[in-house]
Amino acid sequence: MKELAPSVWTHVIDAEGFPTLAAVLLMPRLVFVVDTLTGPTEVAPVVDFLASEAAGRRVVVIDTHHHWDHVFGNSAFPEADIVAQRACPRLIQAELQGGDESLRLPPPEGVPLPNVTFGDRLTYSDAEEAVHLIHTPGHSEDSLVVFLPQRRLLLGGDTVEWPLPNFGQRDGADEWIRTLRQLKQLPVDLIVPSHGPTMGKTILDANERYIAGVYEAVAEAKAAGADRNELDLPVERFLPGGVVVDDVYADAHRENLLWAWDEI
Ligand SMILES: [Zn+2]
Repeated sequence: MKELAPSVWTHVIDAEGFPTLAAVLLMPRLVFVVDTLTGPTEVAPVVDFLASEAAGRRVVVIDTHHHWDHVFGNSAFPEADIVAQRACPRLIQAELQGGDESLRLPPPEGVPLPNVTFGDRLTYSDAEEAVHLIHTPGHSEDSLVVFLPQRRLLLGGDTVEWPLPNFGQRDGADEWIRTLRQLKQLPVDLIVPSHGPTMGKTILDANERYIAGVYEAVAEAKAAGADRNELDLPVERFLPGGVVVDDVYADAHRENLLWAWDEI
């Protein structure tokens, strides 16, 4: 566990090549766990941390959205409320019953569904500090971010991602861009994506530019009669200058082109 800011701790694992983060917010009476990673084993360091550092506090687990790399460790917190956006339990169930993501087997302990849900926004407060959960559709129908106004900090889930967002199962480009523009209005200095380094608001602009750019370029290629499987749209074209993309994100970009193609 690493302390990212006062009382904000993170644990990062490798999930099929993607750095993937769980966060812990230690408040006076409550402790929030943001995402439970790919299973109870992977999230065990967070459980150990709570046992030693958060004894006596009520644990609140937040699932930023239903994807396997964010919820498969839910069973590691049997005493806690699990909070998510209203669509999340249904989407986890669909994922467990098969479909596009059935390749990932759930852990033998199962995946407890969120038992506290909300629509647009849910706010907790503890010792005069507010923790806002805000619905941010885009990457998925049920995506949320965790906004800590007093700290000017945002835990972004997969609504933001570096070096590029992942289109798999997204909620539509327009919806996502609308969400990113709304997030730009928030008074934050630090944004912590689930996948990627902590950074400032530049990630919002970079992600918007990538999403808008990819959809526009794919639409043009399609109109010009290009072949779906031979799109010549290198990733660098859609990223800020100098950004280096590893093989995992080069693959993610190629997948994104196909997702965009199939949607346009
Ligand atoms: Zn993810």
